[in-house]
Amino acid sequence: MAPPPDLDVLTNRIVALAELNSGSFNPDGVDACGERLAELVGELEPDRVETLAVEPTAQVDASGVVVHRPVGRALRAIKRPDAPFQILVFGHLDTVFGPDDPFQAVTVDGTTLRGPGVADCKGGLVLAIEALRQLDDPVPTGGGPLDDVGWQFIAVPDEEVGSIGSKRLLADAATDADLGLGIEPALPSGGVAAARKGSLTVHAVVSGVAAHVGRAHADGRSAILALARFIDEVEAHNGRDGVTVNCGRITGGGALNAVPDRAVGSFNLRVESIVDQRWIEDRFAEAAAEPGREIELIWTSRRPPKPRTPALERVLADVTEAAAEHGLTVEPEDTGGCCDGNDLAAAGLTNVDSLGIAGGGIHSPAEFADVASVPPRAATMVEVVRRARDRALSSS
Ligand SMILES: [Zn+2]
Repeated sequence: MAPPPDLDVLTNRIVALAELNSGSFNPDGVDACGERLAELVGELEPDRVETLAVEPTAQVDASGVVVHRPVGRALRAIKRPDAPFQILVFGHLDTVFGPDDPFQAVTVDGTTLRGPGVADCKGGLVLAIEALRQLDDPVPTGGGPLDDVGWQFIAVPDEEVGSIGSKRLLADAATDADLGLGIEPALPSGGVAAARKGSLTVHAVVSGVAAHVGRAHADGRSAILALARFIDEVEAHNGRDGVTVNCGRITGGGALNAVPDRAVGSFNLRVESIVDQRWIEDRFAEAAAEPGREIELIWTSRRPPKPRTPALERVLADVTEAAAEHGLTVEPEDTGGCCDGNDLAAAGLTNVDSLGIAGGGIHSPAEFADVASVPPRAATMVEVVRRARDRALSSS
């Protein structure tokens, strides 16, 4: 049996990954991070380790033009693909902090690590390696080896920008797996995400008619005014349960003595159900098509909601019980945030997605992680796999 994991080793691994800048649109940095992770994965003696190119991420620029921004490569490792019970362990290489972000330094203070991505989700990647190691080589406190469990480990390069290029890779992996385990950071309470809202990104590209303000104002049609009215209409749906509409960015116009003929509003929407999703998509389409308006809607990202299903509730109960065995309180909580767990659930894979490291302040310069949480949380993940395997194999 293996000794319990050493905190210094875990710390060094997380720091080494976090010191490599891997902002979503820094493909070289993401690839360097993937290479370092591949070295750690190699210790697990997988049958296959590979990096895979993914499609660029479509974004809409300030003038309403779709641009495709390159991203790094995904890392995939596979072990025992013919085993009777298959898990998919998923996380991401990228962070929200690009190379120009002032938040780059990683510091260690006891078991507290501070730095970009230490929690989201480089600490989780290291935790995943530890949990996968324990499947074959249980620590003294665990049960026997789980060598009838096969696994696929995927770290995508573009999660923080919607995993647009990785969607197919994840969906394919979902069809091969019996259970998904995501290593997104724990919720601030230490809990695990249950239901997650869906998230949609849409850009309203508004055209108008340019005219000289002094000589021919009446001949013009203001794109900015049309966009303002559109925003007012669609944000009015915020009163409806289950739907959130936020216009987070507007651009448009130019010279102050010209009627503006171009304006762009970019929105993020959150929805609790697929019914809500369809409903708000229809409201956007209706508002864009109103007479006298020329508005093109460009939907760049759609992550469907992740509902609580009976199968998910079963695994969440396992998580709470298994965590308690390791001295942790891990309760399921619904959240408005979303991740690859949403897409995997939509692809039919029951998954718990926030089994990663404990910490907080994610997506901000206050991000931190507690490396002491890795051993008990990795052991929890292993126990969750054991329970799901036992259930699946005893019923087959
Ligand atoms: Zn994340």
